[in-house]
Amino acid sequence: MNFNIQDIVRPNIQRLKPYSCARDEFKGRPARVFLDANESPYNQPYNRYPDPLQEELKKLLSEVKCVPADQIFLGNGSDEAIDLVYRVFCQPGIDNVVAIEPTYGMYGVCADINDVAYRTVPLEPGYRLNAEKVLAATDAQTKVIWLCTPNNPTGNALNRTEIEKILDNFRGIVVVDEAYSDFSAERPFRVDLERWPHLIVLNTFSKAWGCAAIRLGMAFASKDIIALFNKVKYPYNVNELTQQKAIAMLHDLTKVNLWLAAIRTERPKLMAAFAELSLCEEVYPSEANFFLARVTDADVIYNYLIECGIVVRNRTRVALCGNCLRITVGSPNENTELLAALRKFRVNGGKA
Ligand SMILES: *Cc1c(COP(=O)(O)O)cnc(C)c1O
Repeated sequence: MNFNIQDIVRPNIQRLKPYSCARDEFKGRPARVFLDANESPYNQPYNRYPDPLQEELKKLLSEVKCVPADQIFLGNGSDEAIDLVYRVFCQPGIDNVVAIEPTYGMYGVCADINDVAYRTVPLEPGYRLNAEKVLAATDAQTKVIWLCTPNNPTGNALNRTEIEKILDNFRGIVVVDEAYSDFSAERPFRVDLERWPHLIVLNTFSKAWGCAAIRLGMAFASKDIIALFNKVKYPYNVNELTQQKAIAMLHDLTKVNLWLAAIRTERPKLMAAFAELSLCEEVYPSEANFFLARVTDADVIYNYLIECGIVVRNRTRVALCGNCLRITVGSPNENTELLAALRKFRVNGGKA
């Protein structure tokens, strides 16, 4: 595809001379005495600014994710990468983006914050992606198409052929959010970056890696796109504690793989048991660590579970998700508790 990234970057970002921080200017030879950044000499190791480009962490990640280090961006959660897509590519008040519906809410919130029109295309029955309908919603001012697979809150993986149709026919940025790809058997798009210079793939430490608290998100893309993100991001956007914890995680992947296996084992068991409940109308297929279920009355059942001390996500007011609850796969004990509470619930009111 002949595609020039400069054609779709905001002019002010193209012209931007980034802030040059102390640790950027000093590079190369080993030093012993650091008097360049107005840091305190006391309270080690917290006194020093962290590596602005997280090089040690990216080197380890590069091996695990099979993506070259210079094609990785790290941010304060995926949320930072989502916001950067708008700030780098979308002119406020002029450009627009297209997203599927229903999907992850942050794409729309960041569009509103950045004053970028957010166009939605409803998924087909079975929450299937229709590439032609998504492409038909684009125009000359469309800079980004947002896709999420496996999709949140529906749980299903989008059809790869349809995603490829969008990648092959759209001349703006295509974001494929693979926050849940570890739970899926599908081939991840991040290993196919060289096929599409306008593809950005998102991953996160918040789900399969069990690290939502440290706020670490990843974006994989062409070197040119990563360079633009690095130019616009806050200089020290990933703090030292987060970098250290992530490095420690990457040195011990056996743990993460055991967690993944546990959730993959629990998911079909929980979904099958849920489908047997009298309050359940339908359980939708899932390739994620959660599933969507249509129930007799989502509001009533949601509130009943709250009374039991159990929180699920009520999605009944989301487009195409009437009377749907989104349920995360927990530990075996948590899942057993959820099912026990729901078995005591009487569909037509009244106590058990
Ligand atoms: C949970 C989730 C994320 C993760 O966001 P972080 O900011 O990295 O915690 C990203 N995308 C989707 C679709 C999600 O559901």
